[in-house]
Parts: sequence; structure tokens; C-alpha cells
Amino acid sequence: MDYYPADLLDFICNFNFYGIFAVGSKNINLEMQIKVFKFGGASVKDANGFKNVGEILKLYQQDKLIVVVSAMGKTTNALEEVVKSYYAQDGKVNNLLEEIKNNHFDLINQLFPANNEVTDDINDTFVEIEWILEEPPHEDYDYTYDQIVSIGEMLSSKILNHYLNYLKINTAWMDVRDIILTDNTYRDAKIIWDVTQKNAQNKTKPLFEKYNHLVTQGFIGSTTENFTTTLGREGSDYTAAIMSYCLDASSMHIWKDVPGVLTGDPRIFDEVIMLPRLSYKEAIEMTYYGAKVIHPKTIKPLQNKQIPLYVRPFLDPKSEGTIISDEKELSYPPVIVIEPDQSLLHISTNDFSFAAEHHLSMIFALLAKCRLKVNMMRNTAISFSVCVNTVPDRIKKFEKELGSEFKMVADNDLELITIRHFNEDVLKDMKENKLVLFEERLSETVQIVVRNLPKMKRKDNPNV
Ligand code: ASP
Ligand code: MG
Repeated sequence: MDYYPADLLDFICNFNFYGIFAVGSKNINLEMQIKVFKFGGASVKDANGFKNVGEILKLYQQDKLIVVVSAMGKTTNALEEVVKSYYAQDGKVNNLLEEIKNNHFDLINQLFPANNEVTDDINDTFVEIEWILEEPPHEDYDYTYDQIVSIGEMLSSKILNHYLNYLKINTAWMDVRDIILTDNTYRDAKIIWDVTQKNAQNKTKPLFEKYNHLVTQGFIGSTTENFTTTLGREGSDYTAAIMSYCLDASSMHIWKDVPGVLTGDPRIFDEVIMLPRLSYKEAIEMTYYGAKVIHPKTIKPLQNKQIPLYVRPFLDPKSEGTIISDEKELSYPPVIVIEPDQSLLHISTNDFSFAAEHHLSMIFALLAKCRLKVNMMRNTAISFSVCVNTVPDRIKKFEKELGSEFKMVADNDLELITIRHFNEDVLKDMKENKLVLFEERLSETVQIVVRNLPKMKRKDNPNV
């Protein structure tokens, strides 16, 4: 298998840009080569993480980089708890916020000498949510969620920028909300691409004249009224892809706590191997089926502009990890994706009159309305079964909305196992000690919905 070093592949991709698309245009890519780096929460979970980011960036001092960063470690989860507690008015909100503050100030103490300016900057950032929390909760939960939860990325990007300046790396902090314009679907905002693209070019160009690296936030954007939005959980990869697309980046690099894209989750499986190369199509399929290594929306913008994506280990910056590009004829070993917490909903009508199409379209409309993600489905003459992520309040709402015409029975505590490029041996292994409730085979993919069965063992002294 051919294996291009990162920079050679960069060169080949840019060569195509020059030759095919960009001749004579004022495309920013002609003037400078921009790479987009993304560091997730796990890469910046503590002082060592920030130091490691500094070490990686030292290797790229001459490059023009957009550095997209997520909130530190589990900060987003902690901020979600703040929002919940604020709405519940359960008196816990101050303690929850205090803990988040302590984590950030502890980090600052570890990274910077005493009497630094960083503490004030971070304090000011926290004040923004303290103001919100002093008022009674706004009626729109999702709107408030975005105003509060987005602080996580503001904090981490500010600390990272201060830290890189402290290391004398030539960086500037950039507010991504001046670039990424979205609609007002809070918690799942949609990008307004044409404005975002113009903003990206106009905003970064003068900064890149002075600085080599621009540090900015993943996951967030802004509406035309300047309210903050978020792009959906784990959305920082998507931010990096948006920036890559809008700036015609030569490559995008996601730095992770794994060697690259693996054939399975190393926390669940032994003997996983790294896939050195993947096509965009394969990456889209894998993320669609729930592989958590990259956010599912990430690939499309990159594929549109043929920008290669590297998934690289942050503990081994010399390694290229996995290269995702427009490779066609690759063959893959079996890749397994496990989605826990699944429910199978069996829906039928009380009068056995299912087949009518309007029933199905109504059920789909309700699934969308209740934000239930359909992972697998099947319909028979009189019933319809669908496998969804178990989100109890959404399932309850769905059942209620179905109304009295329908009956719904739910099987819970299930797992959805997807095997791409399966073979019978692997499939057999996956079924061991499991009850298979649902199985579907396509040419390259098999999916099974299973319940774990306890292994029954005969007693040595049966009591009969
Ligand atoms: N901090 C956000 C989250 O945890 C976005 C991200 O990490 O990509 O969901
Ligand atoms: Mg995160």
C-alpha cells in the first residue's frame, strides 16, 4: 500500500488546486498555505495536555495554522449540569460553577507564573455566565444552554493562546463567532455558508499578516443578532472542517488520544489495528454508523474541496496517523462500531391497518420532532420497528404523540453492533452470548441489535 508522508500529500493536493481550480483567482490558498489543527477536550484536559500542544506547535512554527480547540476535558458536561441546575432552581448551581472555575484556575496556576494577566481574563469570561445565572431562567432552554455551555471553548482557547504567547509562539486569539454565522437552531445550529466563507477570508487575512497561528474555538457560532449558538455535541471537528473549507486549507489535522482511526474502540476490544488510509466515503460510512473518532459532519466539507484529513496521535506528533482522502481502491479489514444504550420500539395500530403510507410518514415526522435518531428500522404488514438511541424523555414524548390509534412496545438495554467489511467469523464472535433481536445485511455492512445474555452455568450441586 502506498503511504505518502503528510507533507508530500499536502503538496500533491495543492498542486491540483493550482493546476485545476485556482489559476488566476484571488483564492487565499494561492497566497498562503493554511493548515487547520484541532485539539479536542482530551488533548487539553490538564496542564500536561497544554504543554503537549505547545510542543506540537513548536514543530510547526513556520506554518500558517488555524488552531481550533475544544473545552478542557469534561467541561462541557459540567456546564450542561450548570444549565440543568439553573433551570431546576435546586440551589446547586453556584457550587457546580465553582468547581469549573477551580479547575480552570488550578490549570492557570500550573501553567503560568504568579501574578499573571490570564487570571483576570478568565475571571471576566466567567462573569458573562454569572450575569445570566443571576436572572430567572429564559423560557427557551436551548438558547440559554448555548449562551452558557459555549463558555467552555472561550475559556480553553483564551488559556491556550496566553500559554502559546508565554512560550513565545507567534499566535493571536480569534473569536470564531465573528466568522461562523448560523441560523438560530440552538444546540444544533446550521451554518450560513456564504457569509461564513467571506468572514473567514476577511477576518483571517490581516491576522495572518502578523501572526502565524490563530487560536480559536470549536463547537460554537453566532446568529445575525450576535447570540451564541452551538453546533451539536462534539462539534469541534466540524468547526475545523468549516474553517478548512472556507480557507481552502491544504490539510486538516485532528490530534487525538489514539494512534489514528482504529478497527474498533480500544476500550472495548483487544487487538485493534490502525487504518493507515481511508477514503472519504468509508469515513462517512463509519461515522454514520456511530464511530466516535470523527464528528459525522466533518468529512463532507473536506471531500467537497479534496482537503486531506489526518487523524493523528497527540502523544506522537511525528506519526501521521490515518490519512483520509479521495482514495478509491482500498481494501479494509473488518471494522466494528458498538452503540450501547439502544431501544427497539415496536409500533402497531390498534386496528391492524398499518400498511397505509400515511402512517409511516407520520411516524417519521414524529421521530424527527422528538429528535430520536433512527439507527435501523423494519416494517411489516401490520407493524413498524425502529432502533433508536435510548433517550427516555424523548421516547416518552414520542409515545404520547403517537396517540391512541397506535400501540408501542419498547425493548430497552440493547446494543447495536455494526460490522463494516464483515466476515462470518467476526460476526459469529460478535453474537456470542447475545440474543439477536434484529439483523440486517448489506453488501459491506451487517448490523445486529442484541441483548447481552448472562452466561448460564450448571450448578455443581443442583437443588432438585
Ligand atoms: N466541547 C464540546 C463537547 O464536548 C465540543 C467538542 O468537544 O467537540 O461536546
Ligand atoms: Mg469535548
